[in-house]
Amino acid sequence: MAKKGAREIVAMICKECKSQNYVTTRNKVNMDVKGNGKLELNKHCQTCKKVTSHKESSKLK
Ligand SMILES: [Zn+2]
Repeated sequence: MAKKGAREIVAMICKECKSQNYVTTRNKVNMDVKGNGKLELNKHCQTCKKVTSHKESSKLK
């Protein structure tokens, strides 16, 4: 049985060009324990054509 509100769909935004490149889900319960709960990942940006730091955004374009 799925727990309501435990999983959250987030967009991953390139910090350099602000493009939304990825959409992922995160487990809110686990992620909020450490730091400010913001997810940040190094991913390849198609706009920058290199690996850049992506941060999560709750706003899906
Ligand atoms: Zn970029």
